[in-house]
Amino acid sequence: MKKLIRGLQEFQEHRFDEYRGLFEQLAHGQKPKVLFITCSDSRIVPNLLTQTEPGELFVVRNAGNIVPPYGAANGGEGATIEYAVHALGINQVVICGHSHCGAMKGLLKLNQLRESMPLVCQWLEHAAGTLRVLQDSYAHLEGEELIETAVAENILTQIDNLKTYPVIHSRLHQGKMKIHGWIYEFETGNVLSYDRSAHAFVPPSTQLVKDDDEGVILPGQYVNTSAPPVDAAVPSPVSAERSGSSGAPWLSQEQAKRIYQGNGLRR
Ligand SMILES: [Zn+2]
Repeated sequence: MKKLIRGLQEFQEHRFDEYRGLFEQLAHGQKPKVLFITCSDSRIVPNLLTQTEPGELFVVRNAGNIVPPYGAANGGEGATIEYAVHALGINQVVICGHSHCGAMKGLLKLNQLRESMPLVCQWLEHAAGTLRVLQDSYAHLEGEELIETAVAENILTQIDNLKTYPVIHSRLHQGKMKIHGWIYEFETGNVLSYDRSAHAFVPPSTQLVKDDDEGVILPGQYVNTSAPPVDAAVPSPVSAERSGSSGAPWLSQEQAKRIYQGNGLRR
């Protein structure tokens, strides 16, 4: 705690002045543009990752960036999602999973957690869809490959869960809502974003052409990624066939194909 107390003093005495004007403005109300759902993992820092300021991200965090299906849990997640969309008018959602996720490791050994951490076990059951996909479609994987696949598939599971919320469903029906699935590899700073049409995770910059329909998200504003530059005029999602060389430099071509396209059973 000493470090935190010293940090408070440092913030109040030296750093707050940099933000004084912004916070005075925000005192009149917040108007965040993005609901950012991510893991509680201490290595994930949403504002740092996206280079956003206070007031720009409305954040939900929990173990495993999980969204319980509507009605499955009357918890904070559902209330926060509802408030974000209905009260704040947010129409962009990011569900951001990450490399080396402890929750996904836990999901892979759920039975072992049942006695030692019953609440964690119960919580992770909201990712049962992810577990079932892994068992049915990725039984040949193990170790890090299996965990990376769990991270990727869990993002898709949670997007499906998010769509069960009436307020989300309605906005999607009106064409007023965009849901983005991100994988953040914190050890490299790289982010990949799910491309529905390609059923692959691609550099987010390739999606700006398609998604920047309201001028809300500007290139370079949304994500700080070291993904290779992409010709903005011609969106070219990195399919699994290409991702080994250009889109996901930390994945081999074969690995990327397995992780992000599975064996074709899903979708
Ligand atoms: Zn995590």
